[in-house]
Amino acid sequence: MAKQAFKAESKRLLEMMIHSVYSNKEIFLRELISNASDAIDKIYYKALTDDSLVFDKDSYYIKVKADKDQRTLTITDTGIGMTKDELESNLGTIAKSGSLAFKNENEIRDGHDIIGQFGVGFYSAFMVADHVTVITKALESDQAYKWESSGADGFTIEPVEKESVGTEIILKIKENTEDENYDEYLEEYRLRAIIKKHSDFIRYPIKMDVTER
Ligand code: ADP
Ligand code: MG
Repeated sequence: MAKQAFKAESKRLLEMMIHSVYSNKEIFLRELISNASDAIDKIYYKALTDDSLVFDKDSYYIKVKADKDQRTLTITDTGIGMTKDELESNLGTIAKSGSLAFKNENEIRDGHDIIGQFGVGFYSAFMVADHVTVITKALESDQAYKWESSGADGFTIEPVEKESVGTEIILKIKENTEDENYDEYLEEYRLRAIIKKHSDFIRYPIKMDVTER
């Protein structure tokens, strides 16, 4: 399948993320959980004005699942999902209100400060993962799609089977290096601590599921 290229500025941000020496890598989980929460908010607000849509509180949640054997961390939400076009534009381009525009406007050269001060979004996943898969089905679509990327060289999108509306983000966690421990992002106690620290205010349930080796 032909790979699509990221927009130039997305590519720069992505490269920054991939080669990040930023020590606070754990914030990737805050970013993915906040996107999941935003996606559920979108259904919630839609249900307020759309009588055909009922917001049954128990059916809306975020799930964090670690699989040590597969070295995957999966963040699932029952939010509004993305259409094929949305996958292409939202995950192929950095949000226009994003940190890079700010950085350019303010002529800030040090990337580390920016990461610390602003929401860095979806691409922060590449600080801890060498491959990211997004499987998503939009509320207004019958077809689900899979977006995949191993980094700056681009991404692919293909149709897949998915029953329920919502999004699944699968991170293939990097192997440990001499300087960096990535195994910790597959440990339940560590994930719980990160969620407590950065995502305590999220108003939907965050469920945990860990498969031991
Ligand atoms: P931001 O959240 O600031 O817009 P992100 O990089 O975090 O920037 O996300 C980019 C966009 O991708 C979001 O605005 C949203 O449209 C889409 N997106 C990301 N994650 C999800 C998700 N779990 N469900 C639905 N849409 C998502
Ligand atoms: Mg975000």
